[in-house]
Amino acid sequence: MEKEIKIALAGNPNSGKTTVFNNLTGARQHVGNYPGVTVEKKTGDRRYKGYKINIVDLPGTYSLTAYSLDEVVARNFIIDEKPDVVVDIIDSSKLERNLYLATQLMELGAPLVFAFNMADIAKSSGKKIDTGLLSELMGVQIVETVGHRNKGMNELLDAVVNVAEKKIKGKKVIVRYGEEIENEVEKIAAILTKEGAVTEKLNPRWLAIKLLEQDNEIIETVKKSTGGNYKRIEKVVEGSVWHIKNILRDSPETVIADARYGFINGALRESYEEIEAGKITISDKIDKVLTNRIL
Ligand code: GDP
Ligand code: MG
Repeated sequence: MEKEIKIALAGNPNSGKTTVFNNLTGARQHVGNYPGVTVEKKTGDRRYKGYKINIVDLPGTYSLTAYSLDEVVARNFIIDEKPDVVVDIIDSSKLERNLYLATQLMELGAPLVFAFNMADIAKSSGKKIDTGLLSELMGVQIVETVGHRNKGMNELLDAVVNVAEKKIKGKKVIVRYGEEIENEVEKIAAILTKEGAVTEKLNPRWLAIKLLEQDNEIIETVKKSTGGNYKRIEKVVEGSVWHIKNILRDSPETVIADARYGFINGALRESYEEIEAGKITISDKIDKVLTNRIL
């Protein structure tokens, strides 16, 4: 019997999500809305190597906070529908910014594949990415793609199948926020577990981070699931927020965002290089020196 795989395409606006979605699904598309909101939901499917792959094109977002409806829709889809694989379509010519969403997807614990799209632009503008090393550092499979040329799609589908079938033995990488935040995350996670706020879908670490970030949607969710016990959680969270502001002189939200960029920059420092257009190489320089001397 044909095996079904559910995948979702996430990504920053203009990273090439719809292009990849069209490549993968062809004419087999359906347009509707996400339940209760007027955000367009495109779905389609693709048969590949004996699998029926159901694909959802999530709204384009830069982040997974609760600031915009698109972000809430994208994140709730991943939490509630638990796709087998989330494919993050990344504009690899703007890696640092695009990896911000990627780190948030990592935090959510979704099984991931990164499509490094716009690989043509990245190359022609002199960006060198060691995708093998970066993949190891982030614990996620990376496939280079050029959406509008339909390049890399089979490799992308192979990676999706491998992740869905858990054939990839990578280590799970956790984004760390520094000692001060980590201590508070631990405290909040403990009270969340104790008060019964943790469900199969929401892990305590992620919930704790969102409460520290003072994410209104998650605060409401936790309120609902814990009823009268929420007061005790709120007290711990307030204490933690106060402590972080006091010690680090910044809101937990800002400290956490900075730590995400710290993680990204750490990984890119080892795996990423920009070669300026027209820049002469060392051997060119030596040639020039020698030529001048001879002259
Ligand atoms: P979305 O907002 O993420 O859905 O992005 P789209 O799929 O609409 O793509 C935005 C633009 O980028 C379109 O003009 C695409 O043709 C173009 N595009 C998509 N993939 C690539 C790629 O790999 N390289 C280049 N150069 N352009 C691409
Ligand atoms: Mg689109």
